[in-house]
Amino acid sequence: MEKENLFGRVLTQATGPHAPDRVWLESPLEREGSIAHCFCRGCSLSSEVDKEHASELAALAGVSFQDGVPKGIYFETAGCPYCDGDQSRVEVKNL
Ligand SMILES: [Zn+2]
Repeated sequence: MEKENLFGRVLTQATGPHAPDRVWLESPLEREGSIAHCFCRGCSLSSEVDKEHASELAALAGVSFQDGVPKGIYFETAGCPYCDGDQSRVEVKNL
């Protein structure tokens, strides 16, 4: 049976672990307000996170950034709003 999230959207099965695209990770952030890249290894969704989302992810990863998210890191999650992976499993990775 397919799982649905709160919005009734059918979630993609987390088939990972996928690996992020290095070129994308090292490319400049495109969205206004974005401060870091975020990669879902469950479904390979690439996204950008703003300051608020980044601090939530950092808390889940068990780290805290006093002076904002440092350059040269990105977030990797086991799941995201689009797949059924565990969104609470977050790691901070170095580029
Ligand atoms: Zn995902």
